[in-house]
Amino acid sequence: MLVILAGVAGAGKDTIAKAIIQRMENVISIPSFTSRAPRADDVPGVSYNFVSKEEFERMIADGELYEYDVHHENYYGTSRKLLNERIESGKIIIKDIDVNGTEALVELLKEDTKVVTIFLRVPKDELKRRLENRIDHLSPKEIQLRLNRFDYEESKIGIYDYVIKNDNLEKTLSIIETIIEKEYKLYKAK
Ligand code: 5GP
Repeated sequence: MLVILAGVAGAGKDTIAKAIIQRMENVISIPSFTSRAPRADDVPGVSYNFVSKEEFERMIADGELYEYDVHHENYYGTSRKLLNERIESGKIIIKDIDVNGTEALVELLKEDTKVVTIFLRVPKDELKRRLENRIDHLSPKEIQLRLNRFDYEESKIGIYDYVIKNDNLEKTLSIIETIIEKEYKLYKAK
């Protein structure tokens, strides 16, 4: 089973995915591939696999990705091989991704595995505050690029199974834990 956590950068996807993995025994992560530079808190191979722009373009040309997108002038994508391996392990995979990636993955994987999609909402002014206070210090240009994406991502919330307002981390985590438990039970009962 694949759980997709979506929402704009700054909605809390990464924090939530990490906390869910710590709290739930059967849940694992999957690194995406990206051409962006690693940040101070990135662990290569865990948060992302970092590759050059040229290597990423080779992966696209060779069909190694299920989907990819460009954010903030960098490539991001999901490896076919890595995702297939993790799905076959029988664990629940949680993946932090944007709306375009969600649409592509749901379409591609719906025949093979259960995909549960969750959109995290955060008010725009709160998002701006979070982006300005990020420990990895985004530049004003980087903050603006992320805010520009807000309206587009919000316009797509209709495609998600669940939409959660992430205004309280503990509350959001317990809602997501419950969703995963119930969906997994339904999936296994089939
Ligand atoms: P960041 O650079 O802040 O880590 O991530 C920027 C954006 O890229 C986030 O919205 C994140 O969800 C998205 N992203 C991360 N991995 C993937 C992926 O594999 N595919 C797509 N389409 N987007 C991704």
